[in-house]
Amino acid sequence: MITATAYAKSPVSQAPRRVSILGSTGSVGCSTLDLIGRDPSHFDVVALTGNSNAELLAQQAVAHDADLAVLADPAGLEDLKSSLSGTSVEAAAGQDALIEAVTRPTDWTMAAIVGSAGLRPTLEAVRQGKSVALANKECLVSAGDIFMEEVAKSGTRLLPVDSEHSAGFQAIDPNASDAIEKITLTASGGPFRTWTQEQMKIATRDDALNHPTWSMGDKLTIDSATLMNKGLELIEAYYLFPVEPEQLNIVIHPQSIVHCLVEYSDGSVLAQLSSPDMRTPIAYSLAWPERMWAPTERLDLAKIGSLDFEAPDYDRFPAPLMAVQALKADNGSTTVLNAANEIAVDAFLKRRIGLPSINALVAETMEAVARDGLSKPKSLEDVLALDALSRTLARTLLQDMI
Ligand code: NAD
Ligand code: MG
Repeated sequence: MITATAYAKSPVSQAPRRVSILGSTGSVGCSTLDLIGRDPSHFDVVALTGNSNAELLAQQAVAHDADLAVLADPAGLEDLKSSLSGTSVEAAAGQDALIEAVTRPTDWTMAAIVGSAGLRPTLEAVRQGKSVALANKECLVSAGDIFMEEVAKSGTRLLPVDSEHSAGFQAIDPNASDAIEKITLTASGGPFRTWTQEQMKIATRDDALNHPTWSMGDKLTIDSATLMNKGLELIEAYYLFPVEPEQLNIVIHPQSIVHCLVEYSDGSVLAQLSSPDMRTPIAYSLAWPERMWAPTERLDLAKIGSLDFEAPDYDRFPAPLMAVQALKADNGSTTVLNAANEIAVDAFLKRRIGLPSINALVAETMEAVARDGLSKPKSLEDVLALDALSRTLARTLLQDMI
């Protein structure tokens, strides 16, 4: 969990804050740059990174006067160099360059690479001991204990960006964290909230990408459609907040306005509300411990009229149960769950399997790995080995499915 000192106020330097963004070409990355671009005198952009979109990365680096632009995929280096020729931005590519970018001195790093590809660079950002705004949830799911040990060792200030966790961070009373009885994350329910199991069997990629309230990258949008996202977020919450798995809950809230509720022993419930726009939690992490203006739609509760809540239907959406079971097993199962889910979602996005096969592939992979014997990863290398093994098994099982 984030220690009480993380909640203490610290003076904000008047000098521009040096920032780097891992995954600047994605949904969270673009929203972060949108905010920075509206307030450029307060920020000095050091490094921006993307996977393969050289054109967008170069555009961003020039527009925000970055020192360095790095692509994870070396194949795009020539394009990146030619797009940046004649500018003062350095261009680089590949895993070593990505890690080198993270070690460039900054005050604040946004970790917004999707999937377990974000693990190494985010851990490296944590080791720098400054502020890390954590959007990538997969690294806590895949390597939570190791990740949080590094956070504690380095003294890094971890600022949750996932909207529910930013909301929880805001609603946790640092003087009363012992009095927390329960933390409830809300879930929109996704595009299939009202669909029957029969209808969900024939759901298409486009149906699944049609999220009712949030605009996000494809992987997360599919995770939201299966509610695996909420499972990953329960695991994330366990590592970020001072609670046991039994104290974590989810509730379906189709309007996505209340993001997290923290219940205390005196019966008080503190919640954070905002319209569903990632620029609010990103702005919170960018300005913390102060606040900055964000160009988001303001809440008009009279216009909204009512906020609805309902219990999740785990018959149609079993993924959160799988995630909690994996968390409680405390034996590396969450690493397997995350890896198998990444393979399954990728296969669904490529139209190789249907929606129900996502959960089936995750469950089968978890069983297969468990049959061979699982033990809790003790190092990053252990995590990466278990992640690779799980992916191999998931790919084999996938072949039998299609
Ligand atoms: P996205 O797919 O839009 O962007 C992902 C970014 O990671 C891109 O810049 C991409 O180029 C980069 N990337 C992809 N594969 C890579 C690789 N192998 N190596 C290096 N970089 C790689 O994703 P997103 O929706 O912005 O989400 C990013 C992370 O934030 C995810 O972990 C997601 O769960 C989390 N998150 C996102 C939102 C949201 O609203 N989008 C909300 C909460 C949490
Ligand atoms: Mg979320």
